[in-house]
Amino acid sequence: ESPPILDELRDRLSPQGDVVSPRGKALTEKVFGRPLTPVEVVQTICADVQSQGIGALLRYTQALDAAELTADTIRVSDADLKQAHQNADPALIESVRRIRDNVAEFQQAILHRDVTITPRPGVALTQRYLPLRRIGVCVPGGAAAYPSTVLMTVVPAQVAGVKEIAVVAPPTPFGAYNTDMLATCHELGVTEVYRVGGAQAVAALAYGCQSIDAVDKIVGPGNLFVALAKKHVYGTVDIDSFAGPSEVIVIADETARPDYVAADLIAQAEHSPGSALLITWDESLPDRVEAELQSQLGVLDRSDLTIDSLNQFGAIILVRDADQACELTDRFAPEHLHIETADPRSQIAKIRNSGAAFLGHHTPVALGDYAAGPSHVLPTGGTCTWAAGLCSNSFLRSGSLTEFDETALQSIAPDVIRLAEKEGLTGHARSVSIRTS
Ligand code: NAD
Repeated sequence: ESPPILDELRDRLSPQGDVVSPRGKALTEKVFGRPLTPVEVVQTICADVQSQGIGALLRYTQALDAAELTADTIRVSDADLKQAHQNADPALIESVRRIRDNVAEFQQAILHRDVTITPRPGVALTQRYLPLRRIGVCVPGGAAAYPSTVLMTVVPAQVAGVKEIAVVAPPTPFGAYNTDMLATCHELGVTEVYRVGGAQAVAALAYGCQSIDAVDKIVGPGNLFVALAKKHVYGTVDIDSFAGPSEVIVIADETARPDYVAADLIAQAEHSPGSALLITWDESLPDRVEAELQSQLGVLDRSDLTIDSLNQFGAIILVRDADQACELTDRFAPEHLHIETADPRSQIAKIRNSGAAFLGHHTPVALGDYAAGPSHVLPTGGTCTWAAGLCSNSFLRSGSLTEFDETALQSIAPDVIRLAEKEGLTGHARSVSIRTS
């Protein structure tokens, strides 16, 4: 039976479970003159940007991010992008290049290719894939800087062949004023970066405004307002997912090192909020991991936030055996799964649901977050039962091509005519019979 903590955590980890801080609530009241729910905030912002364009975008940027921008200064200039790149730590640029190559190699290998079959003489059926023309990427910038998000979204899009990429990041030191993020954009050849964030940036990308052309798809992570805004504009544009807080399940056995396991739980909790669950059937591991957590938490930069996160969203679950660990994991359907056992492949074979799985003692999730190749934009909140992580194929749309010659049409015509007549669509039937009788 599933321990109640798992069900409870699943509820609390939905994006809507992301509670707005007292400061956030005060900001809402100040900007809108009354308390509004996050959904109401997002609906209002999106409607205003849609109907009033750049004026509303600048007004919300001023009100929510205290940034005085104009229709011109909203876009980061080419000179600023170049300068960020010139001033960047050369070692960072080297890392960005190597990571771009890793990501591109994997994303290229998995890219869908056109498929054509000729099931009968005179029939050619094709599924063809074409890149989206223009996409928008949300790069967060409230609590930390994320050059890695630029890599993990932009590179798959470029591999797919997307020509126009607009990056939006809030006008903050961690966002659009972060030189590492800007240098990464420049290194990847991104020339459109806008100093806007939150729901107003998502609305501007979806509907377009004087300074930003509308896109076909919006991807990338963000806080609750960004997630809700993406959900709101879905239908006008495509989106990657409705993402909530990050999660990991670590499955470990007696071969796992407690210091590694503790470090892996901490790495996820550091996202704050981030959920970190350990499932093990080794009775001695929980105590050994707890002792390691105590000693490692003391030396972290974000130690207070991480401890909060572990207290709220962390758990160590002792199970009967490996099969029960797999069953519970499958039920929780985590965004990240790390299997630190003697034979991780035998466990992953029994687990269908995980956004991304990391196998073995030498494959920390941080490899996937930063450098390995698959994107770190993954389905959270149990949605990996039906959703997939971002990849190069997320930036393709497909369409079919059908071509019959006269003989092939003759041979299939009776079936088409019969079905069309059964449905009462005699016009359909006639468009075939006119060619064959
Ligand atoms: P953010 O940059 O996504 O959003 C900041 C914007 O939110 C602000 O610019 C403002 O416009 C808007 N906002 C803030 N308070 C508001 C309010 N009260 N009313 C209306 N709008 C408001 O924010 P962030 O804090 O950096 O959060 C980023 C999130 O993305 C974090 O949860 C982080 O863990 C997550 N993340 C996930 C991944 C991943 O791939 N899974 C990667 C990086 C970041």
